[in-house]
Amino acid sequence: MSVYETNRVLFGVAVSALTLLIVAAGVIAVLLYLRQSGKLVSADHSSEIDEGTGLGNRYYLARRYSEMVKPSKRSEYVLCCIYADSDKLERNFKRDEMLKFVTHVSELVQTVMKQIRSVYVLARVPGYGLFVLVKKDSGFVENLNSLVREAGSYALHQENGQLSDAYRTAVGIYPLKAEDSDIHECIFTAYHTALAAYEQNEDQLVCDDEMVAMFSDERDMRREITRAFENREFVTYIQFFVDTMDNEDIVGGEALVRWNHPERGILSPINFVPFMEKEDLIPNLDYYNLEEVCRFIEEMYNHGIKNNFYISCNFSRKTFSSHDFVDRVKEIFKDFDFPKSMIAFEMTESENVKNIVQAYNNAVQIKELGVKILLDDFGEGFASFYDLTEYPVDGLKIDKALVDSIHTEKGNTILRGMTKMGHELNMKVIVEGVESDDQVNELKDIRCDIIQGFRFHRPIPVHEAKKTLADKGALPDGGVATA
Ligand code: C2E
Ligand code: MG
Ligand code: MG
Repeated sequence: MSVYETNRVLFGVAVSALTLLIVAAGVIAVLLYLRQSGKLVSADHSSEIDEGTGLGNRYYLARRYSEMVKPSKRSEYVLCCIYADSDKLERNFKRDEMLKFVTHVSELVQTVMKQIRSVYVLARVPGYGLFVLVKKDSGFVENLNSLVREAGSYALHQENGQLSDAYRTAVGIYPLKAEDSDIHECIFTAYHTALAAYEQNEDQLVCDDEMVAMFSDERDMRREITRAFENREFVTYIQFFVDTMDNEDIVGGEALVRWNHPERGILSPINFVPFMEKEDLIPNLDYYNLEEVCRFIEEMYNHGIKNNFYISCNFSRKTFSSHDFVDRVKEIFKDFDFPKSMIAFEMTESENVKNIVQAYNNAVQIKELGVKILLDDFGEGFASFYDLTEYPVDGLKIDKALVDSIHTEKGNTILRGMTKMGHELNMKVIVEGVESDDQVNELKDIRCDIIQGFRFHRPIPVHEAKKTLADKGALPDGGVATA
């Protein structure tokens, strides 16, 4: 073999070796990319897979975060939470459809990532949403508005599809900080940012320091509330009603919750009810209170109190309109024995009236159990004439704001009109927040039925309420051994 030929063979070998090397490097690069991008969820990590969609879950995201993002590079990344109201989707269209939609949104994310050729991690945290960990400058954030729009039109692509508000998504963007070692904290913050965006009807919101501080306070409050339920720190107070026309006798009362906070003392509902409404914790409180009220009524009934005595419980409209409301109430009633006409449910309005049909169906079924239904805060805020026509209401509770204007000509006329209307619709008219003799006299003249107010009774703990009833001779067997 000539020197020339030898060189040619050697050159050929070198070229083949180089080609092989390039191919191998390419394969390794692709594998690394897939691993980085979150499309390879290792089979050894089944605990890291979200059952519903097959995507990675919270633990997967946590592992990938620690592997992929060096502490010194954290501030180069954002964690985005893509939120949709999965409860609503499940309620309206069943679980499979909800998961199909989430999967669809995850595919939209993957399509964007392909276009921008970015390394990313995608995961799903049930109850929270989809999470995308990606570099700030990847171009992903710039694509979010169109992603949200595309997701919103999902229903149109389905057979017989109609646009539904349930397919709305919103994104919370949390720019990571050097000190963010715990990804679970970041998940929480990104989720709450997305929720804020959703509630404000925005496609996306970027979380700033002020929001971080607010979410952290809220998280503390949630923890405190969980503890309060465990330690039974919520206590039920009773504020008695009196019959306006019949010697101002006690005819019933309203159950009002207080929080006996270990450090801050007795807290009024204004300090925790609005927060619990916002955080969807209010049903827990409403059912907790209902159980306390049932215990109280049963005891009074066993002491022979008249059947026309009743206690009313407050229910947030959120609780009242939930799909399992009637079942939850029946479950509680099962353990108590007293005529259900001795209990009334007050429906409190809220700004976001959701699920009107469900609330109506619930009201009808609750009434069939014998329970009375009262419309709370009538004449103020959101309670309206619409509710009167929609729900099987037994009584109106006229708000304090109207009573405060009873001595003005207009206020007086409105109160008179409302009372007349209530009576013509066969409803009892209960007036809240009555503080003075003048108001009482005027209300007698107007012929409202029942008065609730500090003029007669303030809210008192249940054990004091039992004593009051015994002292007033309302318990034929003489009374109660109070705790
Ligand atoms: P509400 O249901 O309209 O209850 C009446 C409120 O008026 C009570 O305030 C009561 O203490 C107050 N009030 C009664 N008479 C007078 C009066 O003569 N003068 C004045 N200034 N106030 C009077 P409270 O106990 O602070 O409760 C506030 C609200 O918290 C309640 O308004 C109700 O919407 C909510 N709430 C209380 N317990 C519960 C509960 O278990 N579940 C839900 N969802 N909400 C609750
Ligand atoms: Mg009330
Ligand atoms: Mg009220």
